[in-house]
Parts: sequence; C-alpha cells; structure tokens
Amino acid sequence: MAFEGHEQILAVQDAPSGLRAWIAIHALDPQPAFGGIRILDYRSERDALFDALRLSRIMTYKCALAGVQGSGAKTVVIANSINDRAAAIRVLGRHIEGLGGIYRAGPDAGFTSEDQQVLMEETQYIAHFGVDGRMQSAGDATAEGAMHGILRALELRSELRVEETTVAIQGLGSVGVSLAKRFLELGARVVGADADSSKIAFAQNIGVTIVPPSKILSTSCDVLVPCAMGGTIHDVSIPRIQASIVAGVANNTLGHDSQAALLKENNITFLPDFALNAGALIEGSHNLHTNENSCPQKLAEIGETIANILQRSDDDKLSTIEAAFVLASEKVIATKNH
Ligand code: NAD
Repeated sequence: MAFEGHEQILAVQDAPSGLRAWIAIHALDPQPAFGGIRILDYRSERDALFDALRLSRIMTYKCALAGVQGSGAKTVVIANSINDRAAAIRVLGRHIEGLGGIYRAGPDAGFTSEDQQVLMEETQYIAHFGVDGRMQSAGDATAEGAMHGILRALELRSELRVEETTVAIQGLGSVGVSLAKRFLELGARVVGADADSSKIAFAQNIGVTIVPPSKILSTSCDVLVPCAMGGTIHDVSIPRIQASIVAGVANNTLGHDSQAALLKENNITFLPDFALNAGALIEGSHNLHTNENSCPQKLAEIGETIANILQRSDDDKLSTIEAAFVLASEKVIATKNH
C-alpha cells in the first residue's frame, strides 16, 4: 500500500450523522499505534485519505525518534460532510473501540474538547488521559517539547541568547499560544499571527506583537515557527523567510521533504516537525504506561534529539529532514532486532 505499506486502512462511514473518515494504521510493531484525530474540511475523500496516509507514516518515525513504545496511525474526518457532530464522533468512537486497543487515538487539528467528551463515552482507547480520567490538552506538552528543541538549536546554531531573539509564530492556537507564553517568559520578543480574531485578542493580552497572517512568514525574526496547518514552507515562501531557524511544529510543515535542502541552501536550519512536535505523544505514552500526568524530563529530551539531528546533518552532509529519517530508521531497525 501507499507510503511503505500500511498495516490497515479503514473507511468509516455513517450516513445519518454524515461521518466520513479514514483510520490509517501505518504499523503495529511495536503496539499500540498512536495517532491523533484530525477533523478538517477536505475537497474529496481522496485528499483526506492522502492526509491520513502521510500523517500516519510520519507518526511511526515520530515514535522512533522520541523513544516511544508504539507505532504510527492517524484518523482523518471530513468535517464538511458532517451534519450531526456529536453523533458522528460517537460512531467514530465505537469503531476505535472495536479495534480493541491496537490504536490509541489522541487530539489533532480541529478536534475540540467537546469532541473529547463525546469520544470518551464510546471508547477507552484514547491516549493522553490525565490521572483524573479526563483527557488532557495536548498543546502544552507539544509546546514544552518544542521549546526545548528550539532552545537547543539556538545554542548550537546562533550566537544569540534567548532574551535577544525574536520568535515569530504562525497560528496562535493550542500549541502556538502555549509556545508564545513560554518564550515571553524567557524574555524573547514574540510576534504572531492567526486567522481567528479571538485567538489574536488573547495573544495580544499576554504580550504577543500581532502581524497580519500574510506577513508572518516574511517577518523579521530569528526563529520562525509554523504552528497552523502543514505545507506553508515551500518554494515560494522560502525565499521570503528572514529567520535563521525554521522550527516545524505544524505536522508536515514542508510542502515537500526536498524543501529542507532548499532551506539549507538559504542558510536556514530546519527543525523537522516529527522530532520537534513529539511532546504530546511522549506525554500520552508516558501516561499510558505509568498513569502519571506529566514527564518534564522526557519532554526536555527533545532538545537532545534535535542536537543529534543537527550533528548527523553536518556529519553526513544531509538536510536535517534526511538526517532525522536516517536516525529514526536506525531506531526502528534497532527495535525490531531486539
Ligand atoms: P489549533 O487548531 O488549536 O490552532 C491552529 C491555529 O492556526 C488556529 O488558531 C487557526 O486559526 C490558525 N491558522 C490557520 N490557518 C492560519 C494561517 N494561514 N495563518 C495564521 N493562522 C492560521 O491547532 P494546534 O493543536 O495548536 O496545532 C497546530 C499545529 O501543530 C497543527 O498543524 C497540528 O497538526 C500540529 N500539532 C499539534 C499537536 C498538539 O498537541 N495539539 C501535536 C503535534 C502537532
């Protein structure tokens, strides 16, 4: 099957609620397969399937790099076909429950806390529960892990202290605003943009300087963090970037993996998304195995993962994304040989 052979691809459909979704399980060794539920508008079922295949494959590499006992999966729900959201989530939950635990679902873009509540009534197989049994917001863990990765990259690739840097964030949602808070607390200047006015008002209140969405990628900054939808860093946007570090938080930040080489040619260090944004996965899997809510030490290890990727990229003259894939593949092979 597409993208190195997926283990299972399920088409989930329910006419009364308008649910049309794909559950793509990339690998099942080791188990469980972890993957968020993405609920977005798609032009076609084919586009949604393509997203599910691409994202679930990346999750396998993300698990390997993060040292998480698990493999990759993803659920993609076509938001524009839903006519009864709660009923649609219930049907989806029953399908996830029917998989018997080989797949652990978590949150992803477009999945709301109301969706979480409904899903939890239908399935126990959800990653990222708190000790109180409620599902936790994953944005903080993702932001915390990404912060460690960015700080390590600044140490290795920049002369600047964090207080001297400007961090520009595209998308001030769950992860973006949490990352903004952290960098403001560290004394950095934070510039941000969002398409949603309620997000802008909140970010402005905590001290983020707002620019229009059309200006954020070309804004003058040291670190640019795409934190909205994937694919915003591409052949057209790259020449406009002024940052020396692009920190991938949005899944599939690059339009295509080859654009990591173009960033390198432009003297821009790219921090691969599937290494940098693993915080929620790390916390979710830690919670599953230990029943403890938080694991700050493990989130901080993302800094070392980023350092290893940058080192491998230098040593083997690879783009950072190639280096990350090499490191992840080595870890997958090492796990299978154990
Ligand atoms: P979110 O939906 O809470 O926030 C995304 C924000 O981006 C929204 O506020 C939206 O209005 C804004 N946005 C959309 N298009 C924009 C544009 N063109 N310009 C500016 N703003 C725009 O999502 P999130 O949970 O914060 O996730 C952000 C990204 O990080 C997604 O790509 C997601 O897949 C990825 N990610 C999230 C997590 C997590 O824990 N939530 C984990 C790993 C990866």
